[in-house]
Amino acid sequence: MLSDRIRQITPSQTLELNSKIAKLRAEGRSIIALNSGEPDFNTPAPIIEAACQAMREGKTKYTQTPGIPELRQAIVHKLASENKIDYRMDEIIVSTGAKYALTNTFQALLNPGHEVIIPTPCWVSYVEMVKLTGAVPVLVPVLADNQLDLAALEAAVTDRTRVILINSPNNPTGAVYPEESLRAVAELALRHDLYIVTDEVYEKLIYGTTPHVSLASFSPEIKARTITINAFSKAYAMTGWRLGYAAGPADIIKGISAIQGHTTSNATSFVQWAAITALESCADYVEEMRQAFESRRDYLYKRIQALPGISCPFPDGAFYLFPDVSALFGKKAGDRSLQNAGDLADYLLDEAGVALVPGEAFEAPWAIRFTYSNSMDNLTEAMDRIEAALEKLV
Ligand code: PMP
Repeated sequence: MLSDRIRQITPSQTLELNSKIAKLRAEGRSIIALNSGEPDFNTPAPIIEAACQAMREGKTKYTQTPGIPELRQAIVHKLASENKIDYRMDEIIVSTGAKYALTNTFQALLNPGHEVIIPTPCWVSYVEMVKLTGAVPVLVPVLADNQLDLAALEAAVTDRTRVILINSPNNPTGAVYPEESLRAVAELALRHDLYIVTDEVYEKLIYGTTPHVSLASFSPEIKARTITINAFSKAYAMTGWRLGYAAGPADIIKGISAIQGHTTSNATSFVQWAAITALESCADYVEEMRQAFESRRDYLYKRIQALPGISCPFPDGAFYLFPDVSALFGKKAGDRSLQNAGDLADYLLDEAGVALVPGEAFEAPWAIRFTYSNSMDNLTEAMDRIEAALEKLV
C-alpha cells in the first residue's frame, strides 16, 4: 500500500519511545524520562512575550517563504558576530526546525545514487533523511574517544560522494570536534569537491575548553561548499516552537526555498518574530541553562562511571552521555536475557522506570544514550533505580 520511498525508512525510534512512556504513565507507573532530546527548561519569558505581542499586533499571516527579512537580518548578524561567517540575507532560509532545514538541504543537493558520508554514532534522523532522497548514507565510525577518524573519512570517499555531514557538538556522544579536525574535513571536501552540511544546533552547549568553531568560517572557498544548519530549539529551549535555519550559497538556498514554498511555506509567523528576541536579548538565559547542564553532566558522568562494566569518554558538549554497555550483554534477569542495547533499555524501562534510548537508534548498538536535561533530583533517583536494577543481573 505504501510507496517504495516510505517503505525504506524506519520511523523515528526516539519518538516511538515517547508513546511507550506515555502509555506506562497512563497506567500509573513512575517513569523518569532520560530519553528525550530537549531542554527541560521552559522557553525564556521575553521570547514568550514577544510571540504574544506579535500575535496581538496581527503578525499572524503568511510571510515570505524564506522568512521575515527582520529575522534573516538578525541571523546574518548572529552568524557574523558569533560564528565569524559573512552571509547575506539571500543566503539564509528560516524553516520549521533544524529537521526541516536539513531535510530540504538534502533534497536540494542529492540525486539518487549520490553518497553522503556520516560519522557514527549519529543522530537518528540523518540516515532516513538521506534515504528519502534516494541517496546512500555511508556510515563511518568515529574513534574510541568519539573524535573524527579522518583517515577513515578520506577512505570512504568515492566518485559518488556528494556530501560529508558534520555534527558538533554531537548527538549522541556529546563530543566537540576541535578546529584542527574540522579544518582537515574542510580540506578533504575541497580536495574531493564535496559539500559539507554542518549541524550546529548544540553550539551553545559547550562545557570544556574546546570552543565551537563553524566550518564555513574557514575561507570563502569552504563557505561556498558549506551549508550551516542551526535552530532555536536547544539553545533557547524552544523545541516545540519549531524554528531552525539553513545558511549557504544563494543558489542552494533558492533551491531549498522552492521545496519549502510547495510544502510548508514559511515557518510560523509569530515564532519568527519571537526568535529575534531570542537572538538579540536572551544570552543570559542561555548561559544560565548551560551552567545547569554542566553541573548535571558532571554528576551523571560520575554516577555512570561508577556502574560496573559501563564507561564513556567525558563529553564536552550537548546534553548527552553515551556509554558503552556491551559488557552487560549476555546477562540475565530472571528468564530475561539482555542481548543488546535495545534489551537493556527495555529492561531498565520495565524494571527501573527509567527511559533511555538504545544505541541502535544512533547506529551504535553497543551503547545507550542518557539525556541529562532533567532535574538533579530526577537524575539522582534515576541512577539509584538503575543501580538497583543492574544489581539484579546475573
Ligand atoms: N540536529 C540534531 C543533532 C538534533 O539532535 C536535533 C534534535 N534532536 C535536530 C537536529 C532537530 O532540531 P529541531 O528540533 O530544531 O528540528
